[in-house]
Amino acid sequence: MLKDKIKSLAKDLKEEVIANRRHLHANPELSYQEYETAKFVNQKLQEIGVSQIEQKATTGWTALIEGKNPGKKTVALRADMDALPIIEANNVPYKSTHEGVMHACGHDAHTASLLGAAKILNSVKDQFEGTIKLIFQPGEEVAPGGASYMIKDGALENPRPNGIIGQHVMPFIPVGKVGFRQGIYMASADELYITVKGKGGHGAMPETLIDPVLISSHLIVALQQVVSRAASPKVPSVLSFGRVEALGATNVIPNEVKIQGTFRTLNEPWRAQAHQKMLQIAKGLVEGMGGEVDFEIRKGYPFLQNDPELTERATLAAKDYLGEENVLDLDIWMAAEDFAYYSQEIKGCFYRLGTRNEQKGIISGVHTPTFDIDEDALEIGAGLMAWLAVSELEKG
Ligand SMILES: [Zn+2]
Ligand SMILES: [Zn+2]
Repeated sequence: MLKDKIKSLAKDLKEEVIANRRHLHANPELSYQEYETAKFVNQKLQEIGVSQIEQKATTGWTALIEGKNPGKKTVALRADMDALPIIEANNVPYKSTHEGVMHACGHDAHTASLLGAAKILNSVKDQFEGTIKLIFQPGEEVAPGGASYMIKDGALENPRPNGIIGQHVMPFIPVGKVGFRQGIYMASADELYITVKGKGGHGAMPETLIDPVLISSHLIVALQQVVSRAASPKVPSVLSFGRVEALGATNVIPNEVKIQGTFRTLNEPWRAQAHQKMLQIAKGLVEGMGGEVDFEIRKGYPFLQNDPELTERATLAAKDYLGEENVLDLDIWMAAEDFAYYSQEIKGCFYRLGTRNEQKGIISGVHTPTFDIDEDALEIGAGLMAWLAVSELEKG
Protein backbone atom coordinates (compact mmCIF):
# COMPACT_ATOMS: atom_id res chain seq x y z
CA MET A 1 0.00 0.00 0.00
CA LEU A 2 1.25 3.46 -0.86
CA LYS A 3 0.68 4.76 2.67
CA ASP A 4 2.93 2.08 4.16
CA LYS A 5 5.51 2.66 1.48
CA ILE A 6 5.56 6.40 2.30
CA LYS A 7 5.81 5.63 6.02
CA SER A 8 8.78 3.38 5.56
CA LEU A 9 10.49 5.85 3.21
CA ALA A 10 9.94 8.62 5.80
CA LYS A 11 11.52 6.43 8.44
CA ASP A 12 14.53 5.69 6.24
CA LEU A 13 14.89 9.36 5.43
CA LYS A 14 14.60 10.63 8.99
CA GLU A 15 18.34 11.07 9.61
CA GLU A 16 18.76 12.89 6.30
CA VAL A 17 15.88 15.26 7.04
CA ILE A 18 17.37 15.94 10.49
CA ALA A 19 20.80 16.59 8.95
CA ASN A 20 19.27 19.03 6.43
CA ARG A 21 17.34 20.77 9.19
CA ARG A 22 20.51 21.10 11.27
CA HIS A 23 22.44 22.51 8.34
CA LEU A 24 19.72 25.12 7.79
CA HIS A 25 19.46 25.81 11.50
CA ALA A 26 23.19 26.46 11.80
CA ASN A 27 23.13 28.75 8.74
CA PRO A 28 20.03 30.92 9.09
CA GLU A 29 19.37 33.89 6.83
CA LEU A 30 17.01 36.81 7.30
CA SER A 31 13.92 37.41 5.18
CA TYR A 32 14.66 38.09 1.48
CA GLN A 33 18.35 37.32 2.06
CA GLU A 34 18.01 33.54 1.82
CA TYR A 35 20.74 33.25 -0.84
CA GLU A 36 22.73 30.34 0.63
CA THR A 37 19.54 28.63 1.76
CA ALA A 38 18.16 28.89 -1.77
CA LYS A 39 21.39 27.42 -3.21
CA PHE A 40 21.17 24.55 -0.73
CA VAL A 41 17.55 23.84 -1.59
CA ASN A 42 18.26 24.02 -5.31
CA GLN A 43 21.14 21.57 -4.99
CA LYS A 44 18.95 19.13 -3.05
CA LEU A 45 16.14 19.43 -5.59
CA GLN A 46 18.58 18.62 -8.38
CA GLU A 47 19.91 15.63 -6.47
CA ILE A 48 16.39 14.34 -5.95
CA GLY A 49 15.72 14.78 -9.66
CA VAL A 50 12.50 16.79 -9.62
CA SER A 51 11.54 18.57 -12.84
CA GLN A 52 11.00 22.19 -13.91
CA ILE A 53 12.94 23.86 -11.11
CA GLU A 54 12.19 27.57 -11.51
CA GLN A 55 13.52 30.52 -9.58
CA LYS A 56 10.79 32.76 -8.17
CA ALA A 57 10.92 35.95 -6.09
CA THR A 58 14.78 35.96 -6.23
CA THR A 59 15.41 33.47 -3.41
CA GLY A 60 12.46 31.12 -3.90
CA TRP A 61 11.85 28.04 -6.04
CA THR A 62 9.04 26.10 -7.55
CA ALA A 63 9.50 22.59 -8.92
CA LEU A 64 7.33 19.73 -10.11
CA ILE A 65 7.05 16.04 -9.42
CA GLU A 66 4.97 14.51 -12.18
CA GLY A 67 3.17 11.26 -11.55
CA LYS A 68 1.29 9.24 -14.13
CA ASN A 69 -1.20 11.30 -16.10
CA PRO A 70 0.41 14.55 -14.84
CA GLY A 71 -2.25 16.82 -16.32
CA LYS A 72 -5.00 15.29 -14.20
CA LYS A 73 -4.63 17.53 -11.20
CA THR A 74 -1.98 19.51 -9.31
CA VAL A 75 -1.49 19.84 -5.57
CA ALA A 76 1.05 22.31 -4.16
CA LEU A 77 3.14 21.86 -1.02
CA ARG A 78 4.70 24.95 0.49
CA ALA A 79 7.63 25.65 2.82
CA ASP A 80 9.08 28.96 4.01
CA MET A 81 12.83 29.40 4.42
CA ASP A 82 13.62 32.62 6.32
CA ALA A 83 14.92 33.13 9.86
CA LEU A 84 14.51 35.86 12.47
CA PRO A 85 16.72 38.59 13.98
CA ILE A 86 17.15 36.79 17.32
CA ILE A 87 20.33 35.75 19.16
CA GLU A 88 20.06 32.01 19.74
CA ALA A 89 20.36 31.00 23.40
CA ASN A 90 20.34 27.22 22.87
CA ASN A 91 23.56 25.31 23.37
CA VAL A 92 23.12 22.66 20.73
CA PRO A 93 25.61 21.28 18.19
CA TYR A 94 23.58 22.90 15.39
CA LYS A 95 23.38 26.32 17.06
CA SER A 96 23.20 29.29 14.69
CA THR A 97 26.60 30.30 13.37
CA HIS A 98 25.21 33.63 12.16
CA GLU A 99 25.26 35.88 15.22
CA GLY A 100 21.92 37.59 15.72
CA VAL A 101 20.04 35.43 13.22
CA MET A 102 18.08 32.36 14.27
CA HIS A 103 15.58 29.89 12.91
CA ALA A 104 13.22 30.59 15.79
CA CYS A 105 10.00 29.94 13.86
CA GLY A 106 10.87 26.46 12.59
CA HIS A 107 11.19 27.42 8.93
CA ASP A 108 14.33 25.24 8.86
CA ALA A 109 12.08 22.32 9.81
CA HIS A 110 9.52 23.26 7.15
CA THR A 111 12.17 23.41 4.43
CA ALA A 112 13.87 20.17 5.48
CA SER A 113 10.49 18.42 5.75
CA LEU A 114 9.43 19.51 2.28
CA LEU A 115 12.75 18.35 0.83
CA GLY A 116 12.10 15.01 2.53
CA ALA A 117 8.56 14.88 1.17
CA ALA A 118 9.90 15.69 -2.30
CA LYS A 119 12.35 12.80 -2.14
CA ILE A 120 9.61 10.43 -1.00
CA LEU A 121 7.16 11.61 -3.67
CA ASN A 122 9.74 11.45 -6.42
CA SER A 123 10.50 7.85 -5.60
CA VAL A 124 6.83 6.80 -5.73
CA LYS A 125 5.77 8.93 -8.68
CA ASP A 126 4.84 5.88 -10.72
CA GLN A 127 2.26 5.10 -8.03
CA PHE A 128 0.06 8.21 -8.17
CA GLU A 129 -1.71 10.25 -10.82
CA GLY A 130 -1.27 13.99 -11.15
CA THR A 131 1.40 16.53 -10.35
CA ILE A 132 2.89 17.81 -7.10
CA LYS A 133 4.16 21.36 -7.14
CA LEU A 134 6.82 22.24 -4.59
CA ILE A 135 6.95 25.84 -3.39
CA PHE A 136 9.94 27.06 -1.37
CA GLN A 137 9.40 30.71 -0.52
CA PRO A 138 11.42 33.51 1.03
CA GLY A 139 10.38 36.20 3.48
CA GLU A 140 7.46 34.83 5.46
CA GLU A 141 8.37 36.94 8.48
CA VAL A 142 8.50 40.40 6.90
CA ALA A 143 5.69 42.30 5.18
CA PRO A 144 4.53 42.27 2.45
CA GLY A 145 5.37 38.54 2.71
CA GLY A 146 7.36 36.31 0.37
CA ALA A 147 4.15 34.52 -0.60
CA SER A 148 2.85 37.68 -2.26
CA TYR A 149 6.04 37.94 -4.36
CA MET A 150 5.90 34.24 -5.24
CA ILE A 151 2.34 34.65 -6.51
CA LYS A 152 3.27 37.78 -8.51
CA ASP A 153 6.13 35.82 -9.98
CA GLY A 154 3.78 33.08 -11.20
CA ALA A 155 4.25 30.40 -8.53
CA LEU A 156 0.58 29.48 -8.83
CA GLU A 157 0.60 29.26 -12.66
CA ASN A 158 1.76 26.61 -15.14
CA PRO A 159 0.30 24.47 -13.78
CA ARG A 160 -2.16 26.17 -11.46
CA PRO A 161 -2.61 23.97 -8.37
CA ASN A 162 -6.11 22.86 -7.41
CA GLY A 163 -5.11 23.19 -3.78
CA ILE A 164 -2.17 24.05 -1.57
CA ILE A 165 -1.01 22.52 1.72
CA GLY A 166 1.39 24.11 4.18
CA GLN A 167 2.65 22.95 7.54
CA HIS A 168 4.02 24.87 10.50
CA VAL A 169 5.68 23.65 13.67
CA MET A 170 3.68 24.12 16.87
CA PRO A 171 5.52 23.99 20.20
CA PHE A 172 2.25 23.70 22.13
CA ILE A 173 1.37 20.39 20.47
CA PRO A 174 3.28 17.29 21.62
CA VAL A 175 5.55 15.59 19.12
CA GLY A 176 3.71 12.78 17.33
CA LYS A 177 0.55 14.82 16.93
CA VAL A 178 -0.71 17.33 14.37
CA GLY A 179 -3.58 19.83 14.35
CA PHE A 180 -6.09 20.99 11.75
CA ARG A 181 -8.82 23.58 11.60
CA GLN A 182 -11.47 24.10 8.91
CA GLY A 183 -12.47 27.63 7.95
CA ILE A 184 -11.05 30.77 9.57
CA TYR A 185 -7.81 30.00 11.35
CA MET A 186 -5.32 32.88 11.53
CA ALA A 187 -5.72 36.64 11.65
CA SER A 188 -4.95 39.51 9.35
CA ALA A 189 -2.35 41.78 10.96
CA ASP A 190 -1.93 45.49 10.34
CA GLU A 191 0.67 47.75 11.90
CA LEU A 192 -0.51 51.06 13.34
CA TYR A 193 1.76 54.10 13.57
CA ILE A 194 0.22 57.15 15.24
CA THR A 195 1.83 60.50 15.96
CA VAL A 196 -0.17 62.86 18.18
CA LYS A 197 1.10 66.43 17.87
CA GLY A 198 0.42 69.13 20.41
CA LYS A 199 2.39 72.00 21.88
CA GLY A 200 4.92 71.16 24.57
CA GLY A 201 6.33 73.24 27.38
CA HIS A 202 6.56 73.53 31.16
CA GLY A 203 4.40 71.03 32.98
CA ALA A 204 3.40 73.73 35.47
CA MET A 205 1.60 75.78 32.80
CA PRO A 206 -0.83 73.44 31.07
CA GLU A 207 -3.14 76.28 30.11
CA THR A 208 -0.53 77.54 27.62
CA LEU A 209 0.03 74.09 26.05
CA ILE A 210 -1.71 71.40 24.05
CA ASP A 211 -0.76 68.27 25.91
CA PRO A 212 -0.19 65.34 23.51
CA VAL A 213 0.32 62.94 26.43
CA LEU A 214 -3.19 63.52 27.74
CA ILE A 215 -4.65 63.41 24.23
CA SER A 216 -2.84 60.13 23.55
CA SER A 217 -4.16 58.64 26.78
CA HIS A 218 -7.71 59.42 25.68
CA LEU A 219 -7.00 58.17 22.19
CA ILE A 220 -5.73 54.76 23.32
CA VAL A 221 -8.86 54.28 25.40
CA ALA A 222 -11.20 55.62 22.73
CA LEU A 223 -9.80 53.35 20.02
CA GLN A 224 -10.69 50.29 22.09
CA GLN A 225 -14.32 50.93 21.25
CA VAL A 226 -13.51 49.78 17.73
CA VAL A 227 -13.05 46.24 19.03
CA SER A 228 -15.52 46.45 21.94
CA ARG A 229 -18.43 48.29 20.21
CA ALA A 230 -18.01 48.55 16.46
CA ALA A 231 -16.82 44.96 15.92
CA SER A 232 -19.34 42.18 15.73
CA PRO A 233 -18.93 39.90 18.75
CA LYS A 234 -18.90 37.06 16.24
CA VAL A 235 -15.71 38.24 14.57
CA PRO A 236 -12.56 38.03 16.70
CA SER A 237 -10.65 41.34 16.70
CA VAL A 238 -7.62 42.49 18.65
CA LEU A 239 -6.26 46.00 19.05
CA SER A 240 -3.04 46.26 21.06
CA PHE A 241 -0.61 49.12 21.53
CA GLY A 242 2.84 48.00 22.57
CA ARG A 243 4.78 51.21 22.23
CA VAL A 244 3.99 54.70 23.50
CA GLU A 245 6.79 57.21 23.30
CA ALA A 246 6.50 60.60 25.03
CA LEU A 247 9.96 61.99 25.52
CA GLY A 248 9.17 64.59 28.15
CA ALA A 249 10.09 64.65 31.83
CA THR A 250 8.35 65.12 35.21
CA ASN A 251 8.00 68.79 34.40
CA VAL A 252 8.30 68.80 30.62
CA ILE A 253 5.41 68.15 28.30
CA PRO A 254 6.71 67.03 24.89
CA ASN A 255 5.51 68.35 21.53
CA GLU A 256 4.42 64.97 20.32
CA VAL A 257 3.73 61.38 21.29
CA LYS A 258 4.31 58.35 19.08
CA ILE A 259 2.16 55.28 19.48
CA GLN A 260 2.57 51.90 17.76
CA GLY A 261 0.22 48.99 17.76
CA THR A 262 -1.34 46.10 15.91
CA PHE A 263 -4.86 45.42 14.67
CA ARG A 264 -5.87 41.84 13.91
CA THR A 265 -9.08 40.28 12.77
CA LEU A 266 -10.59 37.48 10.69
CA ASN A 267 -12.86 39.19 8.18
CA GLU A 268 -11.71 41.29 5.24
CA PRO A 269 -14.71 43.69 4.88
CA TRP A 270 -14.67 44.34 8.63
CA ARG A 271 -10.92 44.87 8.51
CA ALA A 272 -11.39 47.70 5.98
CA GLN A 273 -14.25 49.22 7.99
CA ALA A 274 -12.20 49.08 11.19
CA HIS A 275 -9.37 50.97 9.50
CA GLN A 276 -11.78 53.77 8.55
CA LYS A 277 -13.29 53.79 12.03
CA MET A 278 -9.90 54.11 13.71
CA LEU A 279 -8.84 56.96 11.43
CA GLN A 280 -12.13 58.74 12.03
CA ILE A 281 -12.00 58.39 15.83
CA ALA A 282 -8.38 59.53 15.97
CA LYS A 283 -8.98 62.60 13.83
CA GLY A 284 -12.16 63.61 15.67
CA LEU A 285 -10.76 63.08 19.13
CA VAL A 286 -7.32 64.59 18.65
CA GLU A 287 -8.56 67.64 16.74
CA GLY A 288 -11.37 68.07 19.25
CA MET A 289 -8.70 68.40 21.92
CA GLY A 290 -6.70 70.88 19.88
CA GLY A 291 -4.00 68.59 18.55
CA GLU A 292 -3.15 67.06 15.20
CA VAL A 293 -2.73 63.44 14.28
CA ASP A 294 -0.79 61.42 11.71
CA PHE A 295 -2.18 57.91 11.53
CA GLU A 296 -0.54 55.41 9.24
CA ILE A 297 -1.95 51.90 8.85
CA ARG A 298 0.50 49.52 7.19
CA LYS A 299 -1.47 46.59 5.92
CA GLY A 300 0.03 43.21 6.66
CA TYR A 301 -1.12 39.73 5.68
CA PRO A 302 -4.77 38.93 5.06
CA PHE A 303 -6.57 36.50 7.36
CA LEU A 304 -6.04 32.83 6.73
CA GLN A 305 -8.96 30.64 5.81
CA ASN A 306 -8.62 26.89 5.45
CA ASP A 307 -10.84 25.50 2.73
CA PRO A 308 -13.33 23.30 4.65
CA GLU A 309 -13.43 20.45 2.14
CA LEU A 310 -9.72 20.26 1.41
CA THR A 311 -9.03 20.50 5.15
CA GLU A 312 -11.53 17.79 5.96
CA ARG A 313 -9.94 15.44 3.42
CA ALA A 314 -6.48 16.29 4.80
CA THR A 315 -7.66 15.70 8.37
CA LEU A 316 -9.04 12.28 7.43
CA ALA A 317 -5.84 11.42 5.57
CA ALA A 318 -3.79 12.48 8.62
CA LYS A 319 -5.96 10.30 10.90
CA ASP A 320 -5.40 7.43 8.53
CA TYR A 321 -1.63 8.04 8.65
CA LEU A 322 -1.11 8.85 12.35
CA GLY A 323 -4.15 7.41 14.08
CA GLU A 324 -7.28 9.22 15.17
CA GLU A 325 -5.86 10.12 18.60
CA ASN A 326 -2.92 11.99 17.10
CA VAL A 327 -4.92 14.47 15.06
CA LEU A 328 -6.19 17.45 17.07
CA ASP A 329 -8.65 20.25 16.38
CA LEU A 330 -7.02 23.66 16.45
CA ASP A 331 -8.45 26.82 17.91
CA ILE A 332 -8.29 30.20 16.16
CA TRP A 333 -4.80 31.69 16.38
CA MET A 334 -4.51 35.50 16.25
CA ALA A 335 -1.01 35.47 14.78
CA ALA A 336 -0.68 36.08 11.04
CA GLU A 337 0.92 33.96 8.34
CA ASP A 338 1.59 34.82 4.71
CA PHE A 339 0.29 31.41 3.57
CA ALA A 340 -2.97 33.40 3.68
CA TYR A 341 -2.08 34.89 0.27
CA TYR A 342 -2.12 31.45 -1.36
CA SER A 343 -5.36 30.52 0.38
CA GLN A 344 -7.01 33.63 -1.06
CA GLU A 345 -6.06 32.50 -4.56
CA ILE A 346 -6.68 28.77 -4.39
CA LYS A 347 -8.01 26.27 -1.86
CA GLY A 348 -5.63 26.00 1.04
CA CYS A 349 -4.96 23.91 4.12
CA PHE A 350 -2.47 25.12 6.71
CA TYR A 351 -1.90 22.64 9.52
CA ARG A 352 0.32 22.31 12.58
CA LEU A 353 3.06 19.83 13.28
CA GLY A 354 3.54 19.08 16.98
CA THR A 355 7.15 19.60 18.10
CA ARG A 356 6.86 19.82 21.89
CA ASN A 357 8.64 17.43 24.24
CA GLU A 358 8.50 18.29 27.92
CA GLN A 359 10.81 15.43 28.91
CA LYS A 360 13.50 16.83 26.66
CA GLY A 361 12.74 20.38 27.88
CA ILE A 362 11.53 21.45 24.43
CA ILE A 363 8.77 23.84 25.45
CA SER A 364 9.74 27.36 24.26
CA GLY A 365 7.42 29.30 22.01
CA VAL A 366 8.25 30.38 18.47
CA HIS A 367 10.14 33.69 18.13
CA THR A 368 12.04 33.15 21.41
CA PRO A 369 15.83 32.66 21.79
CA THR A 370 15.30 29.22 23.31
CA PHE A 371 12.93 27.88 20.68
CA ASP A 372 13.78 24.40 19.40
CA ILE A 373 11.90 21.40 18.09
CA ASP A 374 11.90 17.72 18.94
CA GLU A 375 13.42 16.43 15.71
CA ASP A 376 11.41 13.21 15.97
CA ALA A 377 8.66 15.39 14.46
CA LEU A 378 10.53 15.54 11.17
CA GLU A 379 9.70 11.97 10.21
CA ILE A 380 6.04 13.03 10.31
CA GLY A 381 6.88 16.42 8.81
CA ALA A 382 8.19 14.76 5.66
CA GLY A 383 6.05 11.62 5.50
CA LEU A 384 2.69 13.17 6.33
CA MET A 385 3.17 15.97 3.82
CA ALA A 386 3.88 13.43 1.10
CA TRP A 387 0.85 11.37 2.13
CA LEU A 388 -1.45 14.41 2.25
CA ALA A 389 -0.38 15.35 -1.27
CA VAL A 390 -1.02 11.95 -2.82
CA SER A 391 -4.28 11.55 -0.87
CA GLU A 392 -5.50 14.89 -2.20
CA LEU A 393 -4.50 13.96 -5.76
CA GLU A 394 -6.49 10.79 -5.39
CA LYS A 395 -9.58 12.01 -3.51
CA GLY A 396 -9.83 15.76 -4.02
ZN1 LIG B 1 7.31 33.38 12.65
ZN1 LIG C 1 6.60 30.83 10.86
